[in-house]
Amino acid sequence: MNASMAELFDVIIIGSGPAGLTAAIYLTRACLKTLIIAGSKWGGQLQLTTEVENFPGFPDGIQGPALMHAMRKQAEKFGAVFLDDDIPPTDVTRGTPFTITVGGKAVAGKTILIATGADAKTLGIPGEKELTGHGVSYCATCDAAFFKNKHVAVVGGGDSAMEEAIFLANFSSHVTILYRGDTLRASQIMQERVKKNQKISIQYNTDITEIIGEQTVEKIKVIHAKTHETSEIPVSGVFIAIGHTPNTKVFPGIDVNERGYILEKNSTSTNVEGVFVAGDVQDARYRQAITAAGFGCMAALDIERYLAERQ
Ligand code: NDP
Repeated sequence: MNASMAELFDVIIIGSGPAGLTAAIYLTRACLKTLIIAGSKWGGQLQLTTEVENFPGFPDGIQGPALMHAMRKQAEKFGAVFLDDDIPPTDVTRGTPFTITVGGKAVAGKTILIATGADAKTLGIPGEKELTGHGVSYCATCDAAFFKNKHVAVVGGGDSAMEEAIFLANFSSHVTILYRGDTLRASQIMQERVKKNQKISIQYNTDITEIIGEQTVEKIKVIHAKTHETSEIPVSGVFIAIGHTPNTKVFPGIDVNERGYILEKNSTSTNVEGVFVAGDVQDARYRQAITAAGFGCMAALDIERYLAERQ
């Protein structure tokens, strides 16, 4: 199928988390013909979350998937078209109109918005997937408040793990950092803050092998990397902070930084004219639903202006 046979949209949004869906709401309300390539698992990280207490407008909290369904419904109401497919590697550097073949169908866009997010790295151990959202978390900012006066574990030895532990210590009775090595990777200043905090202890050379609990996390199994001694630690929460992977692999030619996050130029544009970016795929710092939504709004306004200037 070639570009001339493809249905033409003003904007093709790739990704359907808060960034993509917020952009879709703004763009469709501006009467721009908008397609969202939502992915086979649409909705992003919030689909893996249970209660969200810090998204403004929901004083009683809202379940992550319910929030995403509401955002999608709002985008559909204004005319956004959804394709629940994954895109194959696509060269978007050839310029406008950008043609993408997805699910056997060719579509074309005058502009592209990349909003594919970043996935938290997982341990891949028994109990992790089953208890995600039920004591297993990848975001202390999101979930620490659920662990007031509880003992929690943090997995990892980088700056993220230190930051998560320090934040959690404001709520929890105790935080145990489990680190697989014997020399933390985190910056010296973060290590010092952790070591000074009476509520945080570090277990070195420790691998977590299983997370156990009926309804929620009750305990974890660990093994000492050198002695191979195994033990169990009763905890109510496990915060996994072993890094994130921005989802950029399918966009060869788009400039990324040394950590793989898309480099934005002048707010939400990229190195390719007509290709914009929003959300966690370019933001390693905040990684919140509300900030992703904010970036989605910014990108939509930039795209509107870009298209208006070219009419
Ligand atoms: P990092 O890659 O720096 O650290 C990941 C940590 O997780 C490492 O200690 C690593 O162990 C451990 N790890 C990785 N995979 C596994 C696994 N399968 N099982 C157990 N442990 C594992 O990621 P971060 O997210 O911490 O940081 C990313 C970047 O962001 C860094 O440059 C960091 O400096 C920066 N950052 C800065 C902050 C700040 O300054 N306030 C806050 C947060 C992040 P090992 O050490 O053995 O490889």
